[in-house]
Amino acid sequence: AKALSEFFKKLPRPEKPLKVAVIGAGLAGLSAAKYLTDAGHEPVVLEARDVLGGKVAAWQDEDGDWYETGLHIFFGAYANMMNLFAELDIEDRLQWKCHSMIFSMASQGKPGEFSRFDFPEIPAPWNGLVAILRNNDMLTFTEKIQFGLGLLPAIAFGQKYVDEQDGLSVTDWMKKQNVPDRVNDEVFIAMSKALNFCDPDELSMTVVLTALNRFLQERHGSKMAFLDGPPNTRLCQPMVDYIEARGGKVLMNQRIKEFQLMEDNKTVDKLVLVDGSEVEADAYISTAPVDILKLLMPDSWKQMQFFKGFEGLEGIPVINIHIWFDRKLSTVDHLLFSRSPLLSVYADMSTTCRGYADDKSMLELVFAPAKDYIGRSDEDIIEATMKELERLFPGEISASEAQSEGSSKYAKIVKYHVVKTPRSVYAAYAGTGEIRPTQKTPIDNFFLAGCFTKQKYLASMEGALFSGKLAAEQVCIASENNVIPKVNKEAKATTV
Ligand code: FAD
Repeated sequence: AKALSEFFKKLPRPEKPLKVAVIGAGLAGLSAAKYLTDAGHEPVVLEARDVLGGKVAAWQDEDGDWYETGLHIFFGAYANMMNLFAELDIEDRLQWKCHSMIFSMASQGKPGEFSRFDFPEIPAPWNGLVAILRNNDMLTFTEKIQFGLGLLPAIAFGQKYVDEQDGLSVTDWMKKQNVPDRVNDEVFIAMSKALNFCDPDELSMTVVLTALNRFLQERHGSKMAFLDGPPNTRLCQPMVDYIEARGGKVLMNQRIKEFQLMEDNKTVDKLVLVDGSEVEADAYISTAPVDILKLLMPDSWKQMQFFKGFEGLEGIPVINIHIWFDRKLSTVDHLLFSRSPLLSVYADMSTTCRGYADDKSMLELVFAPAKDYIGRSDEDIIEATMKELERLFPGEISASEAQSEGSSKYAKIVKYHVVKTPRSVYAAYAGTGEIRPTQKTPIDNFFLAGCFTKQKYLASMEGALFSGKLAAEQVCIASENNVIPKVNKEAKATTV
């Protein structure tokens, strides 16, 4: 991560900086722009909405309370993210939690109880192995051994084997490796929901093996941090300040409607915005989510092999919920895996996040899989959530009394916000790894970034950031090799 950051700074300063139009001010777009300015170029980020951050965007309600698109966790394995925090000098904004993974036992008939994997301070993979061996609540010793045996090919053949498992779902892989069903039910339903908001019979095994690999190979790979406030002000804004201090621009309310092509019906000539205005640049990077990109794509590109694979990629629905209670609930200062049918992970943000600290609880919860609820009303979603919270907080939450009038020994809901994202990160179903596009495309002046593009960090904040960095690298390489069409044309004209 650090070496790639240095690459941009060490490049010879361009004689004439490239103007690069970057579509989208999510983490991928801001990352691409940040590293382009490090290389001496002049990016212009065009964001459709009036809020920074894309899938990490957050808003303030009339009381001044923040609500977010998603509950976001930063892992120790996020090398590019950690490097960025250091470059922006904002490392103190990451609030690291103890090195543990904590699972609710409510759906296993033990309401209010939790099972912990505690990682001791010894090198990887031993810290992970000790954490697994010491936990006897979720898996028996025999089940752990059977799972360990199933993992042997991944350990022996490494990334090549991991990539080859993409065609198998987690459930199919477990069957193939003779891992008992209980391992899937106890651990991998929760893990699949947390990694990609879907169940293990849909998720590609490559995704799980990639995460396990990072967690088991790096001592602090699975250590988790919360940001100390909303991502758009605490992380995205410092990126914007950095970009603008070095000659780049970040413009809001700039929704791209179409790409206009040059005479060859291939190369991008300009971008046309919904208000009819046009933006011309030397190179273009799209970081729009794959569903939107499919709509923007010119017809002539759709015939090209590179873009055909996009048809198999689409965003997965997810719902993020914030509930403010009238009292402090007994929670832990950490992320919790709910292991319940409708919820994935949750945290009491009034405890875990400095910027949201309060003497009353605010639970932020990820509702997944969400396909059956994404079209339902907020009231329905809150009702279903409260039924699950009743089992997670026995004695403190009663679904029937949470919104009732009058006094009660149970916690009352003060207010809530439900944020639905019908198409969030790309659904990493079995077989989709193959069709994720690279940042370099067959179009000389058009590049791609976004967490759905090919990179080793899955559909995550780290994946988005890294993809932006890789796209910026490709633009710099194309510039060095004089393959950016307009610049090339100008250069030839000057020579003549
Ligand atoms: P986006 O954030 O989607 O950015 C794309 C941008 O393009 C947006 O700002 C959009 O408005 C803009 N755009 C779209 N169309 C146009 C147009 N026509 N013109 C101009 N601009 C346009 N990751 C983790 O690492 N850890 C987590 O714990 C985690 N939890 C999550 C929880 C939830 C509920 C969700 C939804 C996501 C979570 N993620 C998590 C994933 C992470 O948020 C994403 O992988 C990442 O933010 C994606 O960034 P991106 O830049 O690729 O895309």
